[in-house]
Amino acid sequence: MRGMTRYDAVGDGQLSRRRLLAAGGLTAAVGLLTPMSNALPAYAEDDSEPELGTMAVCSGNPYVNRAWVGESGWDLRHRTGWNGLVGVHGGRHSEQFNATFHNRCNTWLQNLDAIARISRPNTSSSWGIQWLGDIGAGVCKTGQHGTGRALDISRVQWDGGFVDLNKHWRGPETRVVKRRYLAVVASCRRYFRNVFTAWYDTDGSHVNHVHVDDNGNNSGGVNIRTSHKGDTTIVQAAGRYLGVNSDIAIDGIWGPITQSAYNTLMARFKMTTSSGGCQTYNPLSSTADMKVFLRWVIRNALADQNAGYYHSPTC
Ligand SMILES: [Zn+2]
Repeated sequence: MRGMTRYDAVGDGQLSRRRLLAAGGLTAAVGLLTPMSNALPAYAEDDSEPELGTMAVCSGNPYVNRAWVGESGWDLRHRTGWNGLVGVHGGRHSEQFNATFHNRCNTWLQNLDAIARISRPNTSSSWGIQWLGDIGAGVCKTGQHGTGRALDISRVQWDGGFVDLNKHWRGPETRVVKRRYLAVVASCRRYFRNVFTAWYDTDGSHVNHVHVDDNGNNSGGVNIRTSHKGDTTIVQAAGRYLGVNSDIAIDGIWGPITQSAYNTLMARFKMTTSSGGCQTYNPLSSTADMKVFLRWVIRNALADQNAGYYHSPTC
């Protein structure tokens, strides 16, 4: 992959490779970790998602038990405590998933893995996925968790680094980790109809994890909707953290400032002919074009670069 040019694109069907890790190879070591049991900090006390229900789908719903997402060697690890603002995770564990939803989660994480690998070609360490932190999938309560069609993600661990989805979006954090948070949210938005984040927090609980679900009917991401608060926050965060407008508010309101940031992102990504691109895309009306737009968000964010370091081909 090192010979690839900056504008090489990863299509959804072009996963670079599948790691054939022997399942369980990491498990023995993981089992030695002792979860910390620090009390939840004040900001996390409103996270009632996993604790309210039993950690299982509501009775009558078909499910599969899975201790991994993406590849069988990519452990699912439960957040069990805190080390300051960083979640502490235990060893490999199983959650109950609707089988179709689990497949969608697999596609998402495989794609994030592939994109990370080609976005960090010049770093010494690999940026393949190691494991995924969670605080619940099938949980018997109202909403998509009750049927195992939702997942609460607390951390993404690559070989070369990680992002904690409680800590790294917050104001005092460094730009590099805020960019990783942005990359994970954008990647989720490509594959899941509903994505709740610290920026789009529907019930006060999503400051410490990212929730994804498939809307109960295997729905993936759609075009970017300017009337949708969650979609708008992603565009605003991309503008803010990828060197377009460091002052833009991430408030979910699509006004002239957000429109301007979006236009600049489109130009930097060479997604318009007027900016030198080979074709003009419209992520605001096309699901396929949304995926292209967010792919460049993810690639530049993971590379810790400003928008435009990676971009579509030019003509
Ligand atoms: Zn959730």
